[in-house]
Amino acid sequence: MTTLASPALPLLLEEVEVTAVERLSPSFVRVELASPALAEFGVDGGTWDQRIKLIFPPEGREPAPIVGADEAWMYAWFEQPAEERGHMRTYTLRAVRGSGEHTRFVVDLVVHEAHGHSGPGSSWAARARVGDRIVVMAPRRGVPFGGIEFLPGTATRLLLAGDETAVPAIAAILAQLPAYARGAAFLEVPLDADVLRDVTGPAGVEVTWLPRNGAAPGALLHPAVVAHLGEGAAEVEVADEEIDPDLWETPSYSSSGEDVDAVVRHVGHDLDDLYAWIAGEAKVVTGLRRVLVNELEVDRHQVAFMGYWRIGVPMKS
Ligand SMILES: Cc1cc2nc3c(=O)[nH]c(=O)nc-3n(C[C@H](O)[C@H](O)[C@H](O)COP(=O)(O)OP(=O)(O)OC[C@H]3O[C@@H](n4cnc5c(N)ncnc54)[C@H](O)[C@@H]3O)c2cc1C
Repeated sequence: MTTLASPALPLLLEEVEVTAVERLSPSFVRVELASPALAEFGVDGGTWDQRIKLIFPPEGREPAPIVGADEAWMYAWFEQPAEERGHMRTYTLRAVRGSGEHTRFVVDLVVHEAHGHSGPGSSWAARARVGDRIVVMAPRRGVPFGGIEFLPGTATRLLLAGDETAVPAIAAILAQLPAYARGAAFLEVPLDADVLRDVTGPAGVEVTWLPRNGAAPGALLHPAVVAHLGEGAAEVEVADEEIDPDLWETPSYSSSGEDVDAVVRHVGHDLDDLYAWIAGEAKVVTGLRRVLVNELEVDRHQVAFMGYWRIGVPMKS
């Protein structure tokens, strides 16, 4: 029986050690994280786009002690100055390797210093070494945790679209899709060299990489998705002041306060069989949401739009 650091919590809050670091490309660092406590990790079904939290200690420091942590610990952690406690950021479980006490999480972190913005997550990734220790928050086996948004239901046509921060999620989804899945995936990345060879899916899902090589985020993704949607879709402009940096519109949650239970069914709609999963920079995702929901009137139950980050806005905490 594995000893947990924080058995009072309904999730795993555990210190993990970096056991492998691989610079996949100029913008991606892959780390493998291990702890015997990851034996207690588990979700019901596939991990799909399962999000997890990573807590990075301040540079040069060890992670804050977590043994015995409960909900009060979480509040107390947030109350401390960030220079003391470090930073919590959201990432995707790209893959899970091994089993039992040898379970390891694979996480692909974007290094974005090269693009003029930095942050604790990106900086940690750029200097990550085997033996480094951070804290991970992840689902605990048998306890509902949430954090999976990919819910295609009975849709028979998939549209997956995202930027580099969504590449780990789209890659994980593609790897878990059944062989009969059909659709298209569009992945916009900073550079030609960021096209990752290990991203593969079923033959019926066409994967298109869009290296923007200096163009603005979304400059390639937006027109590519609009072209894919075909007749009736047109490119839209979104003003900066209209952007919600916390954009999160899924069938079960609406950051803008829309009625998630309101069912609008367009029987006979050309896109009735579509499920769209779109994540990345909030302005880019807002633009694609307008195309799909406002212009093409795709039912909000067939789409998930997630702002993974916003230009110029550090993630909260
Ligand atoms: C559900 C979910 C899953 C995610 N999965 C992943 C994942 O698997 N891998 C991953 O790398 N990211 C992922 N992200 C995005 C990641 O959480 C953000 O990019 C986060 O801002 C990174 O933290 P940071 O400390 O590097 O930068 P922050 O401190 O949050 O931000 C500092 C500055 O950097 C800018 N910035 C943040 N991200 C980027 C970027 N990608 N490119 C350019 N500038 C940026 C901000 O605008 C800000 O100006 C995910 C986000 C969510 C919500």
